[in-house]
Amino acid sequence: MTALSPGATLGIVGGGQLGRMIALAAANYGLKVHVFAPDADSPAFDVAAESTLAAYDDADALARFARSVDVVTYEFENIPAETADLLSAIAPLHPNAAALATTQDRLSEKAFINGLGIPTAPFRSVGTAGDLAQAIVEIGLPAVLKTRRFGYDGKGQRMLRPGEAIDPAAILAEFGGVPCILEGFVAFEREVSVVAARGADGTFAAFDPCANTHRDHILALTQVPAPGIASSTADSAMEIAQRIADAFDYVGVLAVEMFLVAEADGSERVVVNEIAPRVHNSGHWTIEGALTSQFAQHVRAVCGWPLGDPRRPGGVAVEMRNLIGDDVDEWAALLAEPGAHLHLYGKGEARPGRKMGHVTRLLLPP
Ligand code: AMP
Repeated sequence: MTALSPGATLGIVGGGQLGRMIALAAANYGLKVHVFAPDADSPAFDVAAESTLAAYDDADALARFARSVDVVTYEFENIPAETADLLSAIAPLHPNAAALATTQDRLSEKAFINGLGIPTAPFRSVGTAGDLAQAIVEIGLPAVLKTRRFGYDGKGQRMLRPGEAIDPAAILAEFGGVPCILEGFVAFEREVSVVAARGADGTFAAFDPCANTHRDHILALTQVPAPGIASSTADSAMEIAQRIADAFDYVGVLAVEMFLVAEADGSERVVVNEIAPRVHNSGHWTIEGALTSQFAQHVRAVCGWPLGDPRRPGGVAVEMRNLIGDDVDEWAALLAEPGAHLHLYGKGEARPGRKMGHVTRLLLPP
């Protein structure tokens, strides 16, 4: 891969806050950005030199977009595989289409992870009511039924509890009859993620694993270092992310979401939940909390540039809190708080559950 020069144009597919923050990081390196997104009120459009407002299956618009840029990346992993193929036939696409296709489907994603010898929850593919009944027998309850595709923030999933009256046909009908996966419930102690980058030359740089707390299935709080995590567990979490990135011949930032499970002997075990082939909400703390932000790191990787240093200066502890729905009304108080780093995404309406911004605090010693 030839390295791009400042002044080149980075194409970003997807126009949400992740695309917006990639675009801001790209601007810092003298790059131009062209955002392709289907929603007129996409937050990334506000900060891009060029925008294309078109559907992800608009082949003509995609081709024009790809011809206008030097490299294409994405901030949204549910773009159709055909879209990725069309783009990558015209311009370099990073991360590659295979990483996208594998991680779009929870079944192929888990099979891929297990194929690397990395543990996940036990799982079964569920296409029919008979499959679901059989999967419940094999996996046991509690278990989590998820759609194979298009799930996010807890959407497209449902817990199945022991003692619950379960009608497999009715449950699958609730899911709209789409292909599903049944996962064994993991009694985890903590949820952590590793946000990491792999450069075009195969170099790898992970940010420290962070602990993630969800509210109503949406990330509420990220803390780094993850409170109480053993350094051997942190090392194995980062090593897992590296094996995944290497196996995909990945270029860019990825996030690996994991469960930490406490063993009877006091040790901790890492179980991978899912891979996001993109920058990730649990990496927002890196903007102020690391020597290189996840967004700058992603831009460096997809441009074929050397990766930056992912360490926390002085090992500082960092907290990032999402501003969800009307949390954003706190903006004035947060601006007045010394040391609170406020980020607003420029979204119009603060609907419940909508990520409107985030605030990062470095927990400096007194
Ligand atoms: P996901 O969409 O797979 O990230 O799941 C959303 C959230 O549901 C996770 O962050 C966990 O809190 C919970 N969850 C998902 N799968 C499992 C599982 N197999 N066992 C326990 N909790 C789960």
